[in-house]
Amino acid sequence: MKILISNNDLNEALYDVSNLGFVPTMGGLHKGHISLIKKSLKECKKTIVSIFVNPTQFNNKNDFRNYPRNKNEDLSILKRLKINFLYVPKVKDVYYLKRKSSIKLKKKDKILCAKFRIGHFEGVIDVMERLTKIIKPQKVYLGEKDFQQLFLVNKYMPKQYNMKIISCKTIRDNNKLAFSSRNKLLNRIELAQAKSISKEIFLFKKKLSKSRNIKKLISDKKKDLVNSFNIKLDYLELRNKFNLKLSNKVKNSKLFIAYYINKVRLIDNF
Ligand code: AMP
Repeated sequence: MKILISNNDLNEALYDVSNLGFVPTMGGLHKGHISLIKKSLKECKKTIVSIFVNPTQFNNKNDFRNYPRNKNEDLSILKRLKINFLYVPKVKDVYYLKRKSSIKLKKKDKILCAKFRIGHFEGVIDVMERLTKIIKPQKVYLGEKDFQQLFLVNKYMPKQYNMKIISCKTIRDNNKLAFSSRNKLLNRIELAQAKSISKEIFLFKKKLSKSRNIKKLISDKKKDLVNSFNIKLDYLELRNKFNLKLSNKVKNSKLFIAYYINKVRLIDNF
């Protein structure tokens, strides 16, 4: 595994590399990331993983400061997986150029996390475009865990880069809790709570598919979750998975949730 800490290193290393798979991450690696990396290793001749905690996608300074960082563990995971390249750029490597025009989400896309984390996806789309321009991969691997991110990157990334976005299934533990770097911020009790919530939402989605009054069930479930788990709920919404419009039938829809357990914000979709 070659570790590339600057764009010079990267350009030298990737000079004659073709069929390159790229897995962008913010580190704090877990089984979800590992599944993306394994898919790239299987499908591409070479695989590059980036670890970059992108400051522009954080709408809260403390959230950026407290984001889990674990360089040594990440390195040992990546060495074991035998990836070809690890790119760990500095902010100046990614933001060496000013954008010509700013990214603006359409009104209809300002839903779910875009509504609650102002500027977040503009930061995500910007950094994805920058990393793609620098790395020039043939395939980019993104997880369905961040379904809205996948949707918006697909929609807003300029098509000129000629790369394919590969969407990858969400990896969960036995309780249906999706692996997430932010889980590392939870204490034992909070983690148990997150697992219970995931299991409950998973079962609730099943129940929805047998029900007629979906709107009422979701509205009741929101109250129930807030009361039973003492969480702050940003949203619990059923939306069509192709256009993210609100939906009242389970077919072709996903149930999206974002909530806080104390200070930690978790998102998922089922
Ligand atoms: P992050 O480091 O959180 O920015 O995530 C990097 C990539 O891993 C994103 O494309 C995520 O959607 C994906 N990812 C995160 N958690 C999971 C998971 N549990 N299963 C599958 N992919 C995931």
